[in-house]
Amino acid sequence: MPKPVACVDAGRCNPRQRDSSVCAALPLCKRRVLRQEALGEVPIITNPQFCQGCFLCLAACPQRAIVKCQ
Ligand code: SF4
Repeated sequence: MPKPVACVDAGRCNPRQRDSSVCAALPLCKRRVLRQEALGEVPIITNPQFCQGCFLCLAACPQRAIVKCQ
């Protein structure tokens, strides 16, 4: 069974709710798997193969927009 990795639920994600418009989970990812193309935009998972499944990002997201997926 494949190890779960982080995925972004774009329907829940709303970085614009933060004063900085920066995704709250971004600085938590030591692997730099999450990337936000511009302030306020929904982050993308750039290289899921590098996600180690630590889910620090999941815990950091106030919108609960990061979920575990296969
Ligand atoms: S689960 Fe860990 S490695 Fe994967 S995107 Fe989140 S913080 Fe980065």
